[in-house]
Amino acid sequence: MTVPAPDLPARVRIHEVGARDGLQNEKTAVPTEVKAEFIHRLADAGLTTVEATSFVRPEWVPQLADAEQLFPLLGDLKGVHLPVLVPNARGLDRALALGAHRVAVFASATESFAKANLNRSLDEALAMFEPVVARAKADRAAKVHVRGYLSMCFGDPWEGAVPVHQVVRVAKSLMDMGCDELSLGDTIGVATPGHVQDLLSELNEEGVPTDRIGVHFHDTYGQALANTLAALQHGVTTVDASAGGLGGCPYAKSATGNLATEDLVWMLRGLGIDTGVDLGRLTATSVWMAEQLGRPSPSRTVRALNHQEQ
Ligand code: MG
Repeated sequence: MTVPAPDLPARVRIHEVGARDGLQNEKTAVPTEVKAEFIHRLADAGLTTVEATSFVRPEWVPQLADAEQLFPLLGDLKGVHLPVLVPNARGLDRALALGAHRVAVFASATESFAKANLNRSLDEALAMFEPVVARAKADRAAKVHVRGYLSMCFGDPWEGAVPVHQVVRVAKSLMDMGCDELSLGDTIGVATPGHVQDLLSELNEEGVPTDRIGVHFHDTYGQALANTLAALQHGVTTVDASAGGLGGCPYAKSATGNLATEDLVWMLRGLGIDTGVDLGRLTATSVWMAEQLGRPSPSRTVRALNHQEQ
C-alpha cells in the first residue's frame, strides 16, 4: 500500500458533480428515473457528496427541469450529502421545502461571465446571492450548508487571464455572506499549476483558509490533474469531479470539460490517498451512463479500464 508523500493529504473528499454540472451541459435530456439510478449508483460506488440537481427555472435549464420529481427519489440515501444548486430565493425555497440540507450558489469572478450567465454586473449578482445565503443560514437548527461556486477563476473567454486579486475580492464577498465552502472553478480549463498555487496563497493571505476551499478543474487543455496535484500540495482536500467526464462547457472552445472522477481516483489511488471510492463500480456506472446518452465517455480511465475488460 502506497503511503501519501508528506506534502499530500491522507484523504480527499470528492464532490461529485456529474448529475448536475455534467447532465446540465449534455445535449441529451435524461429521464428522471435514469438520473435517480445514476445517483444511487454513484453513492454505491462510495461517493459521499453527490450534487443532485439544480432548482433553476425549468425553462433556463431544461435538462434539470425535473428537480422536484428527482429529489424525493433520493430520500433513501442516508449518509450521502446531496447538494443542490439554488440560483435565487425561489430556488432556495423549493429546495428547502423538499428537505435539502446542502445548497450552492453560482457566482462568477468576472464581469463578462456574470453578464452572460445572469445578465447582471458582478456586484449586482453578488447582491442577488446575499439574501439567498442569509436565508439558508438563518435557521441555525436546520444547519444548511452553503457552497459558493466561483466560476472563471483563472481565465475568461471574453476577458482573458483573470487577475488573482479580482478572484480574491469575490471569494471574500461570498465568505462574508456566510458561505461555508468555496469551489474555485476553472470554467474554460486554462489554469496551470503555478497559477493555482498563486491564487490559493493569495486567498490564504487575505484570510480565506484552505479548509474552506474546494477546486473545480476542467480538462480542456489537459491540465486538470496537474492543477489538482498543485492544489493538494497546498493542502486542499475537496476536489470536484464528474463521473465519466460528463458535461462540456458551452463557453469553452472544445467539448472537453469537467475533470473525470475516474481519472482523479486513478491518480489519488496511485498516490496512496484515500477517497473511499470503488473505481470498478464507478467505471461501470459511467459506462452505463454513456450508453444512456448514446456517446462514449471522454474519461481516459473509463476508456482504458473498459477496453481492458473487453
Ligand atoms: Mg464544471
